Amino acid sequence: MKPSFFDLTHGELKDLLKENGFSPFGATQIFDWVYKKWVFDPLEWSNVSKGAKEFLNTNYDMSLLKIVWNGLSKDGTRKFLVKMIDGQTVETVAIPARERLTLCVSSQVGCAVGCTFCHTATQGLKRHLKPGEVVGQYIAIQDWLNKNVGPEEKLTNIVYMGQGEPLHNYENMKKATQIFMQENGLNLGQRRITLSTSGLVPAIEKLAIDFPPVNIAISLHSARNDVRTELMPINKVYDLERLFTAIKQIPLKAHRRITYEYLLAADMNDTQEDVDALAKLLNPKESKINLIPFNEFPGSKYKRPSEAKIMWFLDQMIKRGFTCTIRTTKGSDILAACGQLKSEFEKVNLWKKDSGPVVIPSIASSALQNQTPR
Ligand code: SF4
Repeated sequence: MKPSFFDLTHGELKDLLKENGFSPFGATQIFDWVYKKWVFDPLEWSNVSKGAKEFLNTNYDMSLLKIVWNGLSKDGTRKFLVKMIDGQTVETVAIPARERLTLCVSSQVGCAVGCTFCHTATQGLKRHLKPGEVVGQYIAIQDWLNKNVGPEEKLTNIVYMGQGEPLHNYENMKKATQIFMQENGLNLGQRRITLSTSGLVPAIEKLAIDFPPVNIAISLHSARNDVRTELMPINKVYDLERLFTAIKQIPLKAHRRITYEYLLAADMNDTQEDVDALAKLLNPKESKINLIPFNEFPGSKYKRPSEAKIMWFLDQMIKRGFTCTIRTTKGSDILAACGQLKSEFEKVNLWKKDSGPVVIPSIASSALQNQTPR
């Protein structure tokens, strides 16, 4: 199997060209064709030397990840199931909000962390994604948008909040982030990328040393150790004390804050005791709280709190001086819970059909009817 072109940083491509007797300056032209002009066939790169083009064509895989299913929600969220070269699939979601179009990318096939509220956890960890498969989600979706919606539909931001724990796949996610940020390539600014983690303490300790300085979000979900352990078994190993000792080592530039994701589940972590614990644990000047009312899925063991309870929780945090927002559930008509689409897809064994839209029975009526026919 040939290595993927999308695993290469600009520096690596330069070295590769040089080692094989080609001008290293060709790397800039090649990145321009691929990441700025969206031309993936080396033979079409008119200003690149014939030898370099042939070398890459022969030795590197330029193919994009295959989109095997896509659905458009009533709220504009688009969900994609993408297939990799070994046939494994992951979910990727494009979420519009104000001026932004954020791509939520996956970092692993399945996940080993085992959060009890998460559908992906039920799949276990199958494998880590390579850097080119992380970058490849962005490339495949932007290419699809260019061809099916229009070039004005531009992805602007990335969040590592899809399937998998990104810090469990540290080196590959670090390299993917470097590729996303390269000036000669996609050139995404550090504020446009958000890494979200369940709290893998040894990797958080490393972040400060060698990970590009992107936005950080911590999946907290409770400020009480017993409740957090029930929601996230990782808390048994890395409890709140260890987690916050590591978080304090992350250098925060002026006016930057860490976002704390807080999934609100009825009668689980939405009580007065939870409010008090959260307010005691976090510093309002260094934290943003993002409340995520639980998105029920078939078989889920938790329930969404009432709207009144959600608003009460929000109000309590604002009164205590926190910047606190509610994340509205996006794409609920297209299996928004992380991992749900992949499970349904595998259940009906449809990944074998590569061409044309495929129908997943439980979402056919709402999602596919909303697909844009462009
Ligand atoms: S919430 Fe994230 S870290 Fe937890 S099991 Fe699901 S994918 Fe893994």
